[in-house]
Parts: sequence; C-alpha cells; structure tokens
Amino acid sequence: SDVLRLEGISKTYGKGGPAPVPVLSDLSLSVGRGEVVALVAPSGAGKSTLLHIAGLLDTADSGRVLLNGRDMSDESDRSRTEARREALGFVYQFHHLLPEFTAAENIVLPQLANGVADRAAQARAQDLLTRVGLSHRADHRPAQLSGGEQQRVAFCRALANAPALLLADEPTGNLDPGTSDKVFDVLMALVRDTGLSALIATHNLELAARMDRVIRLGAE
Ligand code: ADP
Ligand code: ADP
Repeated sequence: SDVLRLEGISKTYGKGGPAPVPVLSDLSLSVGRGEVVALVAPSGAGKSTLLHIAGLLDTADSGRVLLNGRDMSDESDRSRTEARREALGFVYQFHHLLPEFTAAENIVLPQLANGVADRAAQARAQDLLTRVGLSHRADHRPAQLSGGEQQRVAFCRALANAPALLLADEPTGNLDPGTSDKVFDVLMALVRDTGLSALIATHNLELAARMDRVIRLGAE
C-alpha cells in the first residue's frame, strides 16, 4: 500500500513548439507508508517538475499518479485540488508564510479552510509549534523570526491538516549550513514522530543518507 506511486511519467515542456525541452522520460517511483525518501538530482534534472506532478500542481504528458492507490491523473481539477488540500503537505526552500499573520495563525488558517473548528485548529497549531520547539514564538510574525524559525513554522503549516504525504523541495536550502543541519533534524523528528510519508528533494548527500531510501534523478 504505497502512499505515492508514479508510473511511467513523461514530461516535455514546449511540446510541439520549436524548442521542446524533454525533462522526464518514463519515470516510475513509489513512497511507502511511513517511508521517507530522498530525491537527489543535479540542477535542471527535473526535480521541481517531478514534485509538481506528484503534488498535483502540474500534469504529465503520459503516465499515472496514484495517491493512496487512487489514480489522480484523469481526475477533474476540482478533485485534484481537493486531494491536494486533504492528502498533501508542501515545504519549499522559502517559507512562504503569510507576513501579516502570526506563526500560530499561519498554521490555523489552512485548517479552518479545511473545515476544522477554531478551537481544535488552535490546539493543533500549539502542539505542532511545541514539537518544533517554538511554542514561545506562537504570536510572532514571520519577520520577527529567524530563518530557521520561519522554516520550522513552515513545516508545522505543511502538517496542519495531517497530510498522508509531505513533498519538500530543498526544505533547508536557503539556510546557512549549521542552521540547515539543525532545522533538518527538527523536520526529520517531526516526520518520524507523526509517522508521515515524505519525498524530500535535497542536494545534500549527508542529509539524503539519513532517509530510508535515495532516488537519483538524471546523471550525477
Ligand atoms: P530542477 O528542479 O531539477 O532544477 P526543473 O524541473 O525546474 O529542474 O526543470 C527541468 C528543466 O525543464 C530545466 O531545463 C528547465 O529549464 C526546464 N523547465 C522547467 N519549467 C519549464 C517551463 N515551464 N517551460 C519550459 N522549460 C521549463
Ligand atoms: P536559529 O539559528 O535558531 O534559527 P538565530 O540564532 O538566527 O536562530 O536567532 C536567535 C534568536 O533571535 C531567535 O530566537 C529569533 O527569534 C531572534 N531573531 C533572529 N532574527 C531576527 C529578526 N530579524 N528579527 C527579530 N528577531 C530575530
């Protein structure tokens, strides 16, 4: 019972135009339940494209995307959006927190959008912030937090709706090396504690080696 299966995914940008860019060709991979998989790829190999297809933000030219066994490739935009909201959590290199809201509010809002009651959403936000060591920063806005703290809040937001799968693109890529290692430890502990499945793209081979499995994309 894989959480994510990509089967025979191909993608070319500018198909049919004067300068097509083939990026993915017949790519297959899976992420099992509770498994944390590293995606290691040289720049330009198609890592972001792959994460966008897995995250139902983009479609492949051919192949299938199965989330919890359900083929999402031919689903309507509406049910893909719904699946994205309910089953997927995203983390990027940059935190993308809403600047006018506090750390706690940034974690509460996606829950309210998903129909969670306010009190339960507040409690979950506090619990998540405590897990990443930031309960004392709940009422701070992103600009009042360090880069490492902003990224930790972004992890909490990604987990706010208890997704089945976390998709992360260089989650500590914009932090200095020392902070990056510490913040990555926090992410791994959070993922392990919650039994979350994850596909985490990174250039850092030491970080990749600490995950359950490494998938390489493109020539290294
Ligand atoms: P990575 O994340 O591994 O650096 P990307 O998935 O972002 O790679 O991009 C893979 C290749 O596809 C690159 O050569 C990039 O220039 C190209 N590419 C990405 N997005 C587009 C697009 N929207 N249109 C055309 N080419 C694109
Ligand atoms: P870390 O390495 O844990 O990410 P830093 O050493 O960068 O944190 O920051 C230490 C403390 O200083 C943090 O608790 C943070 O709240 C505070 N701080 C960092 N940058 C800023 C900032 N730009 N504005 C206000 N407070 C900040």
